[in-house]
Amino acid sequence: MGVKNRVALITGGGRGIGRAIALKLAAGGAKIVLLDVLDPEKMAKVVEECTAAGAPLAKGYKLDVTNEQDVERVVDQVNTDFGGIDILVNNAGITRDDLLLRMEVSAWDAVINVNLKGTFLMCKVAARYMIRSRRGRIVNIASVSGLVGNPGQANYAASKSGVLGLTKTVARELAGRNVTANAVAPGFIETDMTAVLPAEVKEKFMQTIPLKRAGQPEDVAQAVAFFADDDSAYITGQTIAVDGGMVM
Ligand code: NDP
Repeated sequence: MGVKNRVALITGGGRGIGRAIALKLAAGGAKIVLLDVLDPEKMAKVVEECTAAGAPLAKGYKLDVTNEQDVERVVDQVNTDFGGIDILVNNAGITRDDLLLRMEVSAWDAVINVNLKGTFLMCKVAARYMIRSRRGRIVNIASVSGLVGNPGQANYAASKSGVLGLTKTVARELAGRNVTANAVAPGFIETDMTAVLPAEVKEKFMQTIPLKRAGQPEDVAQAVAFFADDDSAYITGQTIAVDGGMVM
């Protein structure tokens, strides 16, 4: 895998899909930066796991992706501590599901803030460093909800469709500087986010998956590692769905 000694930032890297992405890139020899609203002490276990998996350097930083000052300060600190920024994985994301007629504006705002504004801020700030080094890989985690919509997820689907539009625009703007931007759209993946869903909702999802099983965080990490690879230099503005064939 061509990520050896690359500095990889993973938002929401403290658990779930973000943790799996961190471990996958660590196994390829990347230096790992976990960015999460969790306290760094709580990220310590994942940092240890990354080192054990093969990361030459790994560290956790407390960061709220919705806070512009936070993002500027922490990304600058990471650049100083690690000597550059090569890979950015925008994985931090939340859900606040409800049907359209019942959805509170606060639920709309919260989801758009973390999933879309957070991704925008991270891209904007990290891109400065990537442009300078004329090299970079941005991988944004979207969702099949953003591709085809999903009842109860007006806010979430809109945020993830927004991420896809953002990804394509970033891809076009940064292409001249050798920076690629791509998206991964997971389907139904077993994490804390989906653990809270009622059994009948999970069963309904299962019926829509040709491969007849839920995905694992590692399935998503596989696609992220592909886009993050040095050798994926001629692929930009693309989306891979990791969904067992749910959307095709
Ligand atoms: P989890 O809820 O398990 O993990 C999300 C992570 O993001 C947590 O570590 C969380 O921190 C962190 N986070 C939340 N808000 C912020 C913030 N403001 N700033 C920084 N970090 C934050 O989710 P998943 O691992 O399941 O999901 C990861 C990504 O994959 C998300 O973007 C999600 O939308 C997407 N996805 C997931 C699917 C699934 O089936 N699981 C399907 C499609 C897409 P904390 O622990 O403190 O809350």
